Amino acid sequence: GRREPVRIAEILRNSLELVEARARESGIALEMDSPAPDLAVLGDGPRLEQVLVNLLQNALDAVGGRPAPRVGVTVTDLGASVAIAVGDNGPGIAEANRAQIFDAFFTTKPDGLGLGLAIARGIVEDCGGHLTVSEGEAGGSVFRMELARAPVQA
Ligand code: ADP
Ligand code: MG
Repeated sequence: GRREPVRIAEILRNSLELVEARARESGIALEMDSPAPDLAVLGDGPRLEQVLVNLLQNALDAVGGRPAPRVGVTVTDLGASVAIAVGDNGPGIAEANRAQIFDAFFTTKPDGLGLGLAIARGIVEDCGGHLTVSEGEAGGSVFRMELARAPVQA
């Protein structure tokens, strides 16, 4: 896949735009870090936006109908790489499902397709990165993608 410099602030803004109406209508607090404007990773911008939208939609699904629903995106500059994490205060992922959530067609939703995470992981790996999940501090899930940092633009 393409590995071009992709500004994180830009893909965050574009993906946020696609989910903020749903969050607002559902009363879900959506918080995003504001990374430095020139912080960039190597990858395929439009496809990485698709990954973010998938992760955000899953997070919104997870917190729907729960008390004080919250979804947050954090950006961590790791020097040689950058981590972008989407966290939520939903129910988390049952131990029994943890090994399968990245498999195509695995879903626990009545109308789910089970393709979002399989596609997301494929895209991130195609960009030379990794997509992993862990438990959030206050329960919930954190999906974290780590991508090589793009060299600073002249
Ligand atoms: P779908 O959203 O169509 O079910 P995905 O591949 O996006 O397919 O997700 C697969 C499964 O992983 C979901 O059905 C759900 O069980 C679990 N999952 C994904 N994201 C979250 C999340 N943020 N919190 C809890 N479970 C999640
Ligand atoms: Mg999904």
